[in-house]
Amino acid sequence: MPSQEKKRRPLSSDELKTVQAKLLERKQELWNDVVQDLQADAKNDHQELIDTIRDQGDAGLEELRERTVFSLIEIKHNELRTIEDALRRIESGDYGRCMDCGQWISPARLKAMPHAVRCRRCQAQKEKIERA
Ligand SMILES: [Zn+2]
Repeated sequence: MPSQEKKRRPLSSDELKTVQAKLLERKQELWNDVVQDLQADAKNDHQELIDTIRDQGDAGLEELRERTVFSLIEIKHNELRTIEDALRRIESGDYGRCMDCGQWISPARLKAMPHAVRCRRCQAQKEKIERA
């Protein structure tokens, strides 16, 4: 018999809050990393953007894309985008559904990977196709 954690079911509101807090924490870390990258990229003047992030906790991703040496932060940009998508899905109530099969993703998986958009089975399927 599958445990509660492995069963496909929507997260409870407490679980959602925990996941949301994790996502927000990770988002903050990433923005802090971005500030460090911008500071390290001293040959360009990013002070204005750094000030914006410091004041507001984040900045528009589009602005970041336009204004920076994009390759430096592309990986972080991509992770930020998945985090923002996940936060939006929490707001809209779609969080925790697999984007391929539409079934609930197991709570155990979401706790390990809060930004996951596919259930384990669909993710494995996708990776198999991409490798082929
Ligand atoms: Zn699925």
